[in-house]
Amino acid sequence: MTIGIHRPTQLIIDQSAIYHNIATEKSRLKPGVELFQVVKADGYGHGLVQVAKIAEKAGVTGFCVAILDEALTLREAGFNLPILVLGITEPQYADLMASHHISATVGSIDWLEEASRYLIEEHRLAIHLALDTGMGRIGFQHPEELRQAVQYLDQKPQFNFEGIFTHFSKADAADTAYFQHQIDRWKAFMAVLPYRPKYVHVSNSATSLWHDACNGNMIRYGVAAYGLNPSGTELTVPFPLQPAMSLKTKMVFVKKLLKGYSVSYGATYTAQEDEWVATLPIGYADGYERRLQGFHVLVNGEFCEIIGRVCMDQLMIRLPRQFPVGTVVTVVGEDHGKTISLQDVADYCGTIHYEIACGFTQRLKRTYI
Ligand code: PLP
Repeated sequence: MTIGIHRPTQLIIDQSAIYHNIATEKSRLKPGVELFQVVKADGYGHGLVQVAKIAEKAGVTGFCVAILDEALTLREAGFNLPILVLGITEPQYADLMASHHISATVGSIDWLEEASRYLIEEHRLAIHLALDTGMGRIGFQHPEELRQAVQYLDQKPQFNFEGIFTHFSKADAADTAYFQHQIDRWKAFMAVLPYRPKYVHVSNSATSLWHDACNGNMIRYGVAAYGLNPSGTELTVPFPLQPAMSLKTKMVFVKKLLKGYSVSYGATYTAQEDEWVATLPIGYADGYERRLQGFHVLVNGEFCEIIGRVCMDQLMIRLPRQFPVGTVVTVVGEDHGKTISLQDVADYCGTIHYEIACGFTQRLKRTYI
């Protein structure tokens, strides 16, 4: 997608915030516990390579991504740290992974058998076995399957059994009953494991922030690095996270809308009196969703309502008074002591901040400060 470099709409990424959020969590970890930064989905919208650079400076010892292409992008950018692909990669890419020293997530012996046919002799693929303890997404279902998989790996020098992990579905909730249920299932799996591989990892951000679980030696730290509370607002984070992303634009057109005149597709908004209206160069093609009609932005510390439908590339706001074209508008972030957080946007859309952050499209220029 073409990046909009000739318009005044940009995502601003605060590098020191990401550094702080990683370094602080790292300092809370027990000795010997490593932090792998999760940079999938373009670093949750913050920029894959840029976030990886900051994370490396903050002392992470590896990366997690969702798909092989993200891992390859990191390798092409020159990163040498371990990389784990968290999703299932098709077995025909086993050799490509091995040749780039990229670790694969595996949830079945079938996958290993198939992958072994693609691996050339001098290559060895690092394997992390995924255990489904209750997420219901990927991974071995029963301890017996795990026992057989480890036995299989032990006989096959093409593979290096590097890690074992699970993923919690409710580590971010005050009610810990389901979390406990997953721990019990994890223990049943561990009971058949003949030895611990190099990495044992169960913690996403929420698990690391709020639980001391399973004696792992690596965490997969995602959303909290970007300054976002994994629980939304349900739980309090043990240290102040610094949000890294803000979204700013400028007014490109300002007019007095006369009483009775309407705005945008469908004419869903009609002025009840004469009022000042600004047009902003941002829309749903940037990931600023159409359902944000009626929400607000900040102009000089004042909340201004989004009136009429959000268009693909533009939207309109009602101003308290006339402002000049070129006035800065804060769509997400802080302005004169007032804030619109990604959480606020997500609440209005009825979703989670994760979805808003990684929903911002590549058309938005990203500026790193
Ligand atoms: N581990 C796995 C398997 C994941 O799928 C994710 C993200 O969805 C993470 C870790 C990171 O989670 P979070 O961003 O909540 O820290």
